[in-house]
Amino acid sequence: MATRQGISWLLIGCWLPLMTSLEAGEWIDLSYTFDSTALYWPGELPFNLTPTSKGQQEFYWYEANTFSASEHGGTHMDAPAHFWKGGWTLDQIPVERLVANAALIDIEDRSQKDPDSILTPDDLADWKRQHGSFQYPTILLVRTGNAKYWSDSERYFGLQNGTAIEKESDGPATPELHFPGVGAEAARLLADDPAIVGVGIDTPSMDPGNAKTFPTHVILYAANKFGLENVGDMSRVPATGATRAGRRDEDEPLSDTGLQDSARGLWITRNTAEGQHEHAALIDIEDRSQKDPDSILTPDDLADWKRQHGSFQYPTILLVRTGNAKYWSDRARYFGFQNRTMIDTESNGTSAPELHFPGIGAEAGRFLADDPAIVGVGIDTPSIDAGNSKTFPTHVTLFSANKFGVENVGDMSRVPATGATILALPMKIGGGSGGPCRVLVRLP
Ligand SMILES: [Zn+2]
Repeated sequence: MATRQGISWLLIGCWLPLMTSLEAGEWIDLSYTFDSTALYWPGELPFNLTPTSKGQQEFYWYEANTFSASEHGGTHMDAPAHFWKGGWTLDQIPVERLVANAALIDIEDRSQKDPDSILTPDDLADWKRQHGSFQYPTILLVRTGNAKYWSDSERYFGLQNGTAIEKESDGPATPELHFPGVGAEAARLLADDPAIVGVGIDTPSMDPGNAKTFPTHVILYAANKFGLENVGDMSRVPATGATRAGRRDEDEPLSDTGLQDSARGLWITRNTAEGQHEHAALIDIEDRSQKDPDSILTPDDLADWKRQHGSFQYPTILLVRTGNAKYWSDRARYFGFQNRTMIDTESNGTSAPELHFPGIGAEAGRFLADDPAIVGVGIDTPSIDAGNSKTFPTHVTLFSANKFGVENVGDMSRVPATGATILALPMKIGGGSGGPCRVLVRLP
């Protein structure tokens, strides 16, 4: 299908939603950073990042943190299960609904005059009169202009006075809130439109702040549509993207990383002449790895790949497939513990147990660090270094070149050596040294 007015792909994911034929160009990040200033629904556990290690070790610098947070804060997704028993949970939402057309309706004029404003059926009718029907899959973004209040929680939530937040956190009483939202009548129309997969808004909630019974949450989620709340500044997002550039039925998930999707990034791309997507290159060392768990990716593997496929093209994420994803549900096998008692030792936190799983060798790591086309690497094991590595040379070389690593990638058996597109969107943790990441590959 031909494009109508350019294409807006909405990518949600701390993962890598797909955008292969997203020949579209400029990416806009609509996600807030998760840090101590991130806003959470009053009374919910806020985001907390606790350093567990930060300092120079014998062979390398080591930095790691633990985070905790409730689900509903910062830029986040409400899964249908949030307000509808039996609705999809985050992990059950089909991947093809997470990369979608972005339609935008701007109700800023009204919202800035009256904080209790809502999106109405008339707003939907106006949009359709100008732009036609919504095209599946579409995420409707509702812009109220309230993103500018993000750093002022009182204003953002529309609290009547400064003490309300404190009061609420020690008790059941919900404070009086005033911010715009999606009205119940508009929600019903959106719930009934099969082209709509989800709705996003730049406020803390789908329903307006003064709603007591959350009808919009119930109506939308009962139809298995999802919500995106606390979406960032949408001022550059056009009213409509247009037709999809690729065929949706070719989208394929690579995997979750096995980590929790506690939050996801939200990205929008606007159509420009420049193409930009990440290439997925894959090198399969399964044969070797399944015979010897200490196998590594070598410079020869890289040379072989290049002989067949040419140079890596910027930006490329190199995926290394060892075939170990199939052991994910068997902790002892996945880590290559020598025996069951190792697991206990390890959980006691005494000494690091002996591990055996394949990885990227130091020499190959150096080649990848030096190749400007490579932006990161991914592997289907717990670490980009092999399990028996003591000094983590591959971590050091790659990270010193500012390339990232994606670990515990799922089953890559359907990913070709070249030609696929990959998206890796980590949860946007302020000061984070790592974090949950959704990884999606779009097959060519
Ligand atoms: Zn929520």
